[in-house]
Amino acid sequence: MNKMIIKNGHLIDPAQGLDGVYDMFVSDGKITDITEPNTVSDYGDADIIDAAGLYVFPGLIDLHVHFREPGFEYKENIETGARAAAAGGFTTVCMMPNTKPVIDTPDKIRAAVKKISEVTGINVLPIGAITMGQEGKLITDIPGMKAAGACAISEDGKSVMDAALMKKAMQIAKENDIPIFDHCEDATLVRGGVMNEGKRSVELNLPGIANRVEEIIEERDIRLAEETGARLHLCHCTTEGSVKLLEAAKEKYRNISGETCPHYIALTEEDIPFDHGNFKMNPPLRTDRDRLALKEAVTKGTMDVISTDHAPHSREEKEQSFLKAPFGIVGLETSFAVCYTELVKKGKMTISGLIDRMSRRPAEILKRQTGVLKIGYPADITIADLNEEYEIDPSTFKSKGVNTPFTGKKVFGRIKYTISGGYKVYDQEADR
Ligand SMILES: [Zn+2]
Repeated sequence: MNKMIIKNGHLIDPAQGLDGVYDMFVSDGKITDITEPNTVSDYGDADIIDAAGLYVFPGLIDLHVHFREPGFEYKENIETGARAAAAGGFTTVCMMPNTKPVIDTPDKIRAAVKKISEVTGINVLPIGAITMGQEGKLITDIPGMKAAGACAISEDGKSVMDAALMKKAMQIAKENDIPIFDHCEDATLVRGGVMNEGKRSVELNLPGIANRVEEIIEERDIRLAEETGARLHLCHCTTEGSVKLLEAAKEKYRNISGETCPHYIALTEEDIPFDHGNFKMNPPLRTDRDRLALKEAVTKGTMDVISTDHAPHSREEKEQSFLKAPFGIVGLETSFAVCYTELVKKGKMTISGLIDRMSRRPAEILKRQTGVLKIGYPADITIADLNEEYEIDPSTFKSKGVNTPFTGKKVFGRIKYTISGGYKVYDQEADR
C-alpha cells in the first residue's frame, strides 16, 4: 500500500472552493484526509512531499490529444505521449482516433485500452470515431465502443459532412450517454487553406481559411444537438463568432460545451514571423479580435475548457513551409505555463478559475470521478511552482514532437510533481 503526504501546499480546488495551506494524505491511490498543516506528528513510512511555497491542485485533464499510435509512431506513441502529459501536469488525457488504422471498432478500443494499461501510469482514455475509417459514410458501433472503454466519439481532423448521418450519430450518442467531441470544419469551404484568411495570408501570399469554415458546422451541429439532445462539445474554437454561437446556445440548451487551446489565447496571425510549419495548425491562429473574445469567454467560463490539441509531428515534416507542413503543434508540456502566464499572471482570471477550465470542468464533461481534491476520490494531483520563471525549451520535452511556436517564450508556472492514482508519475527534481 503506497502512502504519501503532501505537506504545507497551497491547495486550490474549485469544486470545493478550497484555497489555502493544508496537508493532504494519500493512501492506496485515494485521497484519505485533508488537514490544517502540521497537525499530525507521526507519518509512519509515508513518502513525504514538501510542498511549502507550491500550489497543489486536481490533476489536469486534457480532452484533446493525438498520440499517433497505431500508424504514426515516428511522430509519437502512447508511451511518449503519456510521459509528455505527466510532465505537463496532466493525469487524464483523451486520445483522438485519427490514427492508421482509425480507431473505429470495439476491438480497436480494447486494443488501445490494453496498450495504455501496459505503458502508461496516467489515465489515457481512447475516443472512438463517428464513422468507419472517418470516411463519413457508415456510423461506427457506438454502444460497442462505449462498452469497450471509449470516453467519447469524434471525427477529429475533419467534420462528418453528411448532416443526416451526423444527426443519426447524435441520436445514438444520446441513447448511449456518450459525448461528441466535434471538430468543426466545412470541407467544401476550406479549399486548401493553410492559415487564417486575413492580413497575414495576403502578406505571405498563402491560401486562407475563413472564420465561417468553423462557424457554419458549429451552427449546424448545435441545431442538431438541440434536436437530438446529444451532449455536444465543440473542439478547438478559434473565432469570435464561435464564442457568440456557444454563448447563445447555452441560453437555451444545457448539453453543450466548448474548448479552446493555449495557442489561440496567446498568439494571433500577426505572431507568425515568417512562413514556417511550426505556426501551422488547424484551425489556424486568428486575429487579435478573435483572441480577445476567446480570452474573455475562458475568463467568464462560457468557454468551458482549455485543451491542448497536442499534435506531434517529426522535425522534418514541420521544418517546411506552410504549404507543405502538416497541421498541428505539440502542447502538453507548455499548456499550463502558457495559460497561467497569459491568463492568471496577467490578472485576467484566478488560479482557481484556470484549474476549473483545465480540470474540474473537463472531468464533468467526461462524467469521471476526478478533477477534485475530495476525500475518497482518486489521488490525481498536480503540484506546481507558480513563481518560477523559465524559458520554454523543446529539447527538454518528453514528447517526440518539438513542433511548438513557443520556443524561447518566458513563462511562469513550473510543474514540480504529477501524481496519478497515488503514484508519482513525474518529479521535476529527479528528472533534471
Ligand atoms: Zn481537430
